[in-house]
Amino acid sequence: MNIVWFLLVFLSALPSQAECLHRGPNVVLVTLDGVRTREFFEGTDPYHDAKLDPSERGVIFKTLWEKHAPKGLVFGKNGGYRIASDVAVSLPSYQALMTGHSTHCQNNHCGRVKEETVLEAVRRELDLKKSEVAVFGSWKGMKDSTARSSRTIFRSVFPDFKPYPGDRTLRKFRNASIFDRPGWSGSRKDRYTWDMGMHYLKTYCPRVLYVSLVDSDEYGHEGDYPGYVGALRGYDTYLDTLMGTLDGMGAYGKDTTLIVTTDHSRGEAEGWTSHGSKPDSEKEVFLFVKGPKFAAKGITASQATHAQIRPTIEKILGIKVSGQALPQE
Ligand SMILES: [Zn+2]
Repeated sequence: MNIVWFLLVFLSALPSQAECLHRGPNVVLVTLDGVRTREFFEGTDPYHDAKLDPSERGVIFKTLWEKHAPKGLVFGKNGGYRIASDVAVSLPSYQALMTGHSTHCQNNHCGRVKEETVLEAVRRELDLKKSEVAVFGSWKGMKDSTARSSRTIFRSVFPDFKPYPGDRTLRKFRNASIFDRPGWSGSRKDRYTWDMGMHYLKTYCPRVLYVSLVDSDEYGHEGDYPGYVGALRGYDTYLDTLMGTLDGMGAYGKDTTLIVTTDHSRGEAEGWTSHGSKPDSEKEVFLFVKGPKFAAKGITASQATHAQIRPTIEKILGIKVSGQALPQE
């Protein structure tokens, strides 16, 4: 056997790293914390443009609008898509998103969700391994919203001190996030959450992956408009990379539905730094969905709410549907 032939046989016997088995439909959910529909649909806010370099003004989710939105459905253009919690606050909204209805949580201190979440229901009904339903979250509150039990699904949420014995890459990103801290407490930088999530997607091929990002909201609370806009442009790049990755994942990627949304909007004008006060407009958000069961038409006038995300995930994965799913057009 000559050396070339030997190498060919040897290499073909190694598992291909990017190859995921197609075991049925998959869902990737991404949430971007505290993003206004204003910036999502139209771009930078003229009210705040003076804070930006002229080159930074204008459309923000450029790649999403040009390349990806036409291949899916976008809800919320004229206030047609709303959150499902009583208040426009993170934990109440994430709990409602995960359970399919308001849990009547009113603030970020109401504790862990008390009922089975959609992520836990998926694992139980499909009899999946714990590793097949995974959450990567920048904000500590994702521990209180994504699962009723700390043992049912795989989670890497700040603060994360898991040893990751079999995975040097996850360990490397996690360690870096501990030393490279953001300017606020309660979360790690999104770049680490994102890198861990993308590594997990390619390596473990989960049936459901949820990546929850928070830099946008933190910059908002800091009153840092350029930081907020910069975080959003970063998300635009992340989402483009994610969709490119899925496109390169064969049958697994083809049968994966991507859902992108935010947990709440923010106030207007000088009130943009906070949310959860009175204006009803803070409950008006957006949702982008792209997958084999959804029409490719871009912006839709159909009305929907966060309460429909859970039933949508259930319907896609073929388990018991607990409510009204999103319109597929
Ligand atoms: Zn939030």
